Amino acid sequence: MKFDTIIIGGGLAGLTAGISLQQAGIHTAIISSGQNALHFFSGIFESSETCRERLIRLFSTAGIRVQDIPGYHLMPMGTFREAGLSLEDVASFPEKKIAERALIVNFMGFHDFFSSFLAEGLEKEGTACRIRFIRLPEMEHLRQSPSEMRSVNIARVLDECWEKAVADIRVLHKDEDLIILPQVFGLKDASVPEKIASALPAHVVFVGTMPPSVPGIRTQMKLKRRFEVLGGTFLMGDEVTSAALHEGVVSSVTTRNLDSVRLFADHFILASGGYFSKGLVATPNRIVEPLFGLDVFQASDRNQWYRTDFFQDQPYMDFGVRTDTSLHALKDGVPMKNLYAIGSVLGNTRKDDFGTAAGLAVSTAFAVADAIKESQKEQLP
Ligand SMILES: Cc1cc2nc3c(=O)[nH]c(=O)nc-3n(C[C@H](O)[C@H](O)[C@H](O)COP(=O)(O)OP(=O)(O)OC[C@H]3O[C@@H](n4cnc5c(N)ncnc54)[C@H](O)[C@@H]3O)c2cc1C
Repeated sequence: MKFDTIIIGGGLAGLTAGISLQQAGIHTAIISSGQNALHFFSGIFESSETCRERLIRLFSTAGIRVQDIPGYHLMPMGTFREAGLSLEDVASFPEKKIAERALIVNFMGFHDFFSSFLAEGLEKEGTACRIRFIRLPEMEHLRQSPSEMRSVNIARVLDECWEKAVADIRVLHKDEDLIILPQVFGLKDASVPEKIASALPAHVVFVGTMPPSVPGIRTQMKLKRRFEVLGGTFLMGDEVTSAALHEGVVSSVTTRNLDSVRLFADHFILASGGYFSKGLVATPNRIVEPLFGLDVFQASDRNQWYRTDFFQDQPYMDFGVRTDTSLHALKDGVPMKNLYAIGSVLGNTRKDDFGTAAGLAVSTAFAVADAIKESQKEQLP
């Protein structure tokens, strides 16, 4: 099987690159083995200043609304963070006193939404809070086991019966000017939170829960759908297990599911994530990039990988695959000719040029997609 480009990893970086390439008519396959960081996404794109406009445009073509409203984001533990680029699900406020009185509503038995911490944090800033719980018969089967009472399962139930939740919340509401709900609405249909907001008698905000993140999963599903609508091939739940390399060129890869089939491409993009996604693996003495054996920037002494103060920045977060200025991955000190590395597999090695976190994922994806588009143009007769 032959593609113009093969991307290894279907998280934020891989999908952004894939959509950009498909938009330019470059036939691309994404192979992605499992969960990615979007499943845990807060909804806030950190460090995204350099790619802001392009990110908003690309996401809007996928039906995802991204906002940039100055002020403060309310976080799941009741603290505030200075606002930046975020999914529209994330509320932002001009000041930390967000209302006179707030009603915080949770679902009975759902422990991943911290209503008491939220109330404590808000009351500190001058918003009086009342916490109430609702219980829907449709959720009873989830309540049988605490491990089932998770945000995504609740969201699946609410996709079918959110109007019933709204009816119960209307009964609970007294004179509050704000109603706070967990982000468990609109997994399938992103317009549901807006519909809920207009059906309730006070301003409504949705606050993040513990992972998995419903807005993050919805974002991943929409980006994947957009990539496929553009003609891209997404091999979900498959894993690249080996690659054929010769003199700095990758010719093909093989995957676990397509064992005997080699997948060929002109360009390859490694978007396999950091430690969390096994794009980087820590062995007792070394941090390795397991697929191609690429050069990894790291401290040679293991004692320098981390600081004992848990709350300090940890050096191992800076470690990642080394690249040249145009993001070609380095192997034995030499840039691979057609293999690029993007996203969190880079650690913070390129933070001066591309930022960190989601900003790094998106801006490196755009940079590499542009480089590949440029090289395809040069090859045209
Ligand atoms: C838990 C968590 C929460 C985060 N939350 C935020 C946040 O709220 N805001 C923010 O700005 N940043 C956040 N980050 C930082 C995050 O790294 C980036 O935001 C970004 O989403 C990373 O995207 P990525 O595509 O580089 O990697 P990932 O999202 O990790 O995706 C890599 C994908 O590659 C797949 N893969 C790995 N190896 C192979 C292989 N051999 N074959 C096929 N597939 C493979 C993995 O299964 C995974 O699906 C978070 C990071 C983590 C770990």
